[in-house]
Formats: sequence, C-alpha cells, structure tokens
Amino acid sequence: MDEKPSFICDSMLGRLSRWLRVLGYDTLYQRDIEDEEIINLLADCKIRILLTRDRQLYTRVVEAGLKSILIPYENIIRQLAYIGKKLNLNLKLDPDNSRCSVCNSRLVKVSNIDSVRALIPPLLRRGNRNFWYCHKCNKVFWKGRMWPNISRIASTASKNMRKRNL
Ligand SMILES: [Zn+2]
Repeated sequence: MDEKPSFICDSMLGRLSRWLRVLGYDTLYQRDIEDEEIINLLADCKIRILLTRDRQLYTRVVEAGLKSILIPYENIIRQLAYIGKKLNLNLKLDPDNSRCSVCNSRLVKVSNIDSVRALIPPLLRRGNRNFWYCHKCNKVFWKGRMWPNISRIASTASKNMRKRNL
C-alpha cells in the first residue's frame, strides 16, 4: 500500500504537479478543471490533499471538511519546501519510485533495453545507462541533460525544508 500523501493541484499549479509526480507523489492535475469538479474529486477520495493558490477555494474546501494546503509562493523551490515541511515529505529524487510527469503513472525501470529499443535515441542505447518506462504514454525516460538541474532544485528544496521561517 502506498502511504505517501496524494494530491490534486489547482489549475495554477501545473509545474508543481509535474514536480510532485517526479518525486513519486500521486498527483492529479487538469489545466481546465472547475472548482466544483475539484471538490467532487476530493469528496470521492478523502485522502487526497488539494494544493491551491486560491484562498477562496482553499476556504471552501476546508469548510467542507476536506484537506487543502494554501500555497503562498510562486517559486517552485519554495513551493516544494513549503509542502515538504508541512507534510514531512521526502523530497529526495529516486527515479525507481518516480511517476510520469505527463500522466502520473508509475514509472517502471527497464530491465531489458531490447523491449523499448525503438523508443531510445540510438546514441543512448550503448553503455550502462538506466531507463524508466511509462506504460500509458509509451515513453522512455533517462537522466538526460536536464538531470543536474532537476537534482539541484530537489536538493535545494529539501535543504530549505529545514528553515524555520518558511
Ligand atoms: Zn506517462
């Protein structure tokens, strides 16, 4: 059973939703979702937590007895650190426990590169590189050129979680 918290992000938090997925958290996000629909989703699945920038929506959700965190920042590192601190999240990047940033499905480590060979650029097929696969998107992921930057954001957020004045 998955004991990590799961989330719904409001329409303003697309980037945050992708980040939470990469960090392994089950996160629903739709760009054009209505408040009403968000509240229905939260009521259907009482364990999900709404992350929102909208104080009115936040108040409505909390008054309905559902869970929400109002995010006071626009900066992704601050947002992650803020939620991380509130919920005591592990913000360490671990591709083996990651979700697809596009569709939220769990990624599976590729054990036999031949099964997904066609999805990998030829230059990357050689060597001992690790790959992860999303069944739903039929896409393969690897630690590419953006990886150092992704790691830096996650580790900075993780460090900032310990700051007292968040
Ligand atoms: Zn996917």
